[in-house]
Amino acid sequence: MHEIPAPALRVRDLRKTYDNGVQALKGVSLDVAPGDFHALLGPNGAGKSTLIGIVSSLVNKSGGTVEVFGVDIDADRSAAMRLIGLVPQEFNFNMFEKPLDICVNYAGFYGVPRAQALVRAEQVLKDAQLWDKADKMSRTLSGGMKRRLMIARAMMTQPKLLILDEPTAGVDIEIRRGMWKTLKEINAAGVTIILTTHYLEEAESLCRNLAIIDHGTIVESGPMKSLLAKLDVEGFLFDVEGALPAALPAIEGATLVAADAHTLELDMPREMDLNRVFAALDAAGIRVRSMRTKSNRLEELFVRMTAREGAAA
Ligand code: ADP
Repeated sequence: MHEIPAPALRVRDLRKTYDNGVQALKGVSLDVAPGDFHALLGPNGAGKSTLIGIVSSLVNKSGGTVEVFGVDIDADRSAAMRLIGLVPQEFNFNMFEKPLDICVNYAGFYGVPRAQALVRAEQVLKDAQLWDKADKMSRTLSGGMKRRLMIARAMMTQPKLLILDEPTAGVDIEIRRGMWKTLKEINAAGVTIILTTHYLEEAESLCRNLAIIDHGTIVESGPMKSLLAKLDVEGFLFDVEGALPAALPAIEGATLVAADAHTLELDMPREMDLNRVFAALDAAGIRVRSMRTKSNRLEELFVRMTAREGAAA
């Protein structure tokens, strides 16, 4: 008989109320499969840091349960922590230490013997393309290198679950791409990754599964692909000549509305033939002067999801 592997992360009805009365999490449930690359997406203040803070035992929860590879954090906190590597948002290493020492000392803190730590440090620094900087003062590293050093250091304990809190917040696209490469390789080697971000593009290009969190609640979750498919509508704006007719033509499978007196807004499935739209408009006596696409679709989904939650709150 096959044994079903424990999820990398299993969160049930997680709640957090801070001392000041802020309800940062209002009953969050989440499953992350082993080997997954999972995004936790949400605007500032959504509750992302609180969630991963609780999972990594830095923040006390007010209610609910958390299991890491089947280990309940209340039953065996240190066993659960040994499975996790955490990359916090802020640099929190000593800038006057060298990358090699930072990695080796970190492992030492977790009880890894020095000889073994040296071997591991060489590997993780090579993986992060930092081996040639191993002996340089960390202060002299570029911003991107410092961020990769944070990842390398977290890998020193050989975590099965790597959690990153907005690893690329405020960094330029070049640096972000470098980090994505490192993270993809770590994931390909079998490490489960959870990444919080508010960059939609980052979630789309890295992650297989996604949960959108807002106001302490999961508003949407599932495979990135099906979420994108669900959203697989394209939006166009048509600038029309003259006044619009009182009744707009119905176009099967698409939604056509007047944005203003001279602009039509159309949402249609990606695979739909745009010529059908033009034919329908033409038949209704509508002359299109120009057209343009509406904004990014993932962006729109995000706005829609969080607006819906906001409206319900
Ligand atoms: P995110 O990581 O998505 O930006 P956070 O988890 O940091 O969100 O914050 C969620 C909510 O909890 C916010 O309203 C924030 O102001 C509040 N919060 C976070 N940390 C604390 C704290 N230590 N004390 C009080 N309120 C907090």
